[in-house]
Amino acid sequence: MTDESALPLLPHWIDGRSTMPDPERRLPVFDPATGKVQAEVPVATGRDVDRTVASAVASGVDWAVTPPGRRAEVMFAFRELLRARQPELIAAVCREHGKVPDDAAGEVARGLENVDFACGVPALLKGSFSPQVSSGVDVHSVREPVGVVVGITPFNFPVMVPLWMLANALACGNTFVLKPSERDPSASLVLAELLADAGLPPGVFSVLHGDRTTVDALIAHPDVAAVSFVGSTAAAEHVYARASAAGKRVQALGGAKNHLVVLPDADVGLAADGAVSAAFGSAGQRCMAVSVAVAVGDVADDLVEAIAKRLPGLRVGPASDPDAEMGPLIDEAALRRVTRYVAGAEKEGGRVVVDGRDHALAPTADPNGFFLGPTLIDDVAPGAAVYDDEIFGPVLAVVRVEHFDDAVGLVNANRYGNGAAVYTRDGGNARRFQREVTCGMVGVNVPIPVPVGSYSFGGWKSSLFGSARMYGPAGLDFYTREKVITTRWPDPVASVVDLVFPTR
Ligand code: NAD
Repeated sequence: MTDESALPLLPHWIDGRSTMPDPERRLPVFDPATGKVQAEVPVATGRDVDRTVASAVASGVDWAVTPPGRRAEVMFAFRELLRARQPELIAAVCREHGKVPDDAAGEVARGLENVDFACGVPALLKGSFSPQVSSGVDVHSVREPVGVVVGITPFNFPVMVPLWMLANALACGNTFVLKPSERDPSASLVLAELLADAGLPPGVFSVLHGDRTTVDALIAHPDVAAVSFVGSTAAAEHVYARASAAGKRVQALGGAKNHLVVLPDADVGLAADGAVSAAFGSAGQRCMAVSVAVAVGDVADDLVEAIAKRLPGLRVGPASDPDAEMGPLIDEAALRRVTRYVAGAEKEGGRVVVDGRDHALAPTADPNGFFLGPTLIDDVAPGAAVYDDEIFGPVLAVVRVEHFDDAVGLVNANRYGNGAAVYTRDGGNARRFQREVTCGMVGVNVPIPVPVGSYSFGGWKSSLFGSARMYGPAGLDFYTREKVITTRWPDPVASVVDLVFPTR
């Protein structure tokens, strides 16, 4: 039980200011490093949804026709503020997510790339012009904003994923309602303040807190034109189905099971460093985390040994510990879920080489925090839960296969298709791998191939519903509608009635 009155209640951000709600329901926001509830987040009511969308519609009238150059000025100012006030964002992420400060700084930096890209919006929104497509007839195209966009984001990147969406959406002239994760909602309010300080007009960006009920209400709202979603596959499928049935433009990015394939000729030390960094950074709570290492041929024993050797030294502790490399899981349910996978692995044929439950935590770690050390499980095969499910925790499974083709077959048979990496010194095999794997982002000797902001992010198969990838050029396409205009300035003397379908 928590003493409700003693806990701060987070505000929504509506009409350009912090708005204290009068919620029918509130949810706890934990400090994952201590296990204590540190604040409460309101669940928006239907009235809150109506009011927020109405404010977005009203402010969108002017914002949509604000010159792109002026919108870019706001983005430039926002960019400077993001850099200057980065410590506030990092503090919010560390406090509620639990990731260590350097990792939080990394997510701010990767998010900033999207603002950099959006600063170029005057050039990016250029249309095309084709003179004289017929006698006296010209054609040109323009891109117009879609209207009110709703963004729904996951807990694991409370700054970066909102920036994937909002930078392009706002720069393209849309208004944006963010429904951040209820588990670490404070960073979104810092983003809202920075946007307001950058000169964004009130109502153009709002933050509405809540859970799946809020998401459903936002999707169903008739004035919402487009929905950007990032989260688990089950929720992505639900959002995609609902939003498309309601006639909205929707992109829904889901979960992942990313494989790192190590070929026999690879530099084992490099591959082990890559696997450990990508499997256990942020306690494995990244959609591009490596959760399966595929050892091909006789590299397996050396690889498992090299990975195992690196794990006992990892310092697992709170973000306040300057030497901590890995923080806690997000909540108790996540800790229980991940622990269950580790406990059940051997019954399904796996061999637990390093058990995270036995890991010596840093002395700074509160025993009530949601900490779990890194786990390595060898001899895993498809059909075992640790292979089939997205665990989203610090667990790395090793699958041993004989040949290159077996490794590619494994990646391609998986229901997810976010990212895959190959470690090799052989350019031919690297090239074959990147051509043959069925996933959206591929790394060659790079374990977490998250594309830079001038490209776009998105997986295949159950990692993305809809065809639209996120940010970069794909973001521009998603947040604009193209209009093609055919123009003639006729000589009245030459005008005749002609019922034939026009040709050149
Ligand atoms: P989640 O699906 O539980 O929640 C994501 C968001 O959706 C939250 O805002 C939540 O309130 C809302 N939500 C939850 N259930 C819903 C439902 N049934 N209907 C409508 N809305 C719902 O995800 P999470 O635990 O916050 O984040 C982790 C998941 O997100 C992992 O599966 C991870 O792989 C995925 N993820 C994917 C990407 C990507 O780019 N593909 C990026 C980051 C995270």
